[in-house]
Amino acid sequence: MAQLGKLAPGSRHDLRVGMSPDAPDESDFRDDGAGAFGYVHSYETSSRYDGPGLRIVLFLSGCLLRCSYCHNPDTWHLKDGTYISAEQVIDRLKSFAPALLSLDGGITISGGESMVQLGFTHRILAAAKKLGLHTAIQTSGFLGHRAHEKFLSCLDLVMLDIKSSDPETYRKVTGRDLAPTLRFAERLAEIGKPVWVRFTLVPGLTDDPANVDGIAKFVAPMKNVEWVEVQPFHQMGAFKWNAMKLDYPLLNTQPPSPELISRVIEQFRAAGCRAR
Ligand code: SF4
Repeated sequence: MAQLGKLAPGSRHDLRVGMSPDAPDESDFRDDGAGAFGYVHSYETSSRYDGPGLRIVLFLSGCLLRCSYCHNPDTWHLKDGTYISAEQVIDRLKSFAPALLSLDGGITISGGESMVQLGFTHRILAAAKKLGLHTAIQTSGFLGHRAHEKFLSCLDLVMLDIKSSDPETYRKVTGRDLAPTLRFAERLAEIGKPVWVRFTLVPGLTDDPANVDGIAKFVAPMKNVEWVEVQPFHQMGAFKWNAMKLDYPLLNTQPPSPELISRVIEQFRAAGCRAR
């Protein structure tokens, strides 16, 4: 039985490792659906970056991808997170709800991957809806097949990372297949679920014009996609790779230039996307 910890405030940039050594491997994690307990990296209280308005952002542990540009490799494993009850999160959410409501905000559940511990994510989102809060997840979409109707009905917004349009590049970037993400995007389009697509721009890895065009043309016809957000690669997570003794493939990669960022945003706009 895992030791129950406390929900402590922090930041996505905090290094958290080894908090729950007895946790299962994330690829073997069997969700009981009830989600009374889960593994959490940290939470931030005043983000204006992860959805509309002022947000509380909960970073869950567990991800099945291994992105070469990942800023938070300490969210990959459940064993690195703190094991807490959903009630702790919900109680904390209740104390912030008046401020979040007054600033047109809500909660965003990020990761890691928000759908590894789907039951836990669902339970918190359902409680947030009861509080009248706007709800969002950030996801790669790789586990989109797990998102059942009741789960989706608790969500106001999906922030979907489409890391590449080319299966080979996607595998090179993430170690996984692209198809599940595209299938999830199509399903969200079919049900008209609001989506913000996020694309991480990494020079020499994802910046190929054909790669960008592929995403732009896939997304442009989707009326539910409110924004395409181009996120410039940065090196703020490099220290985590180093501290965790991981081989960081992008050690010498520079952030994209303003000219490259403009080119990519313009590519999305030229295809008919609302991009920023
Ligand atoms: S999906 Fe996100 S958390 Fe997972 S490896 Fe990629 S960037 Fe990191």
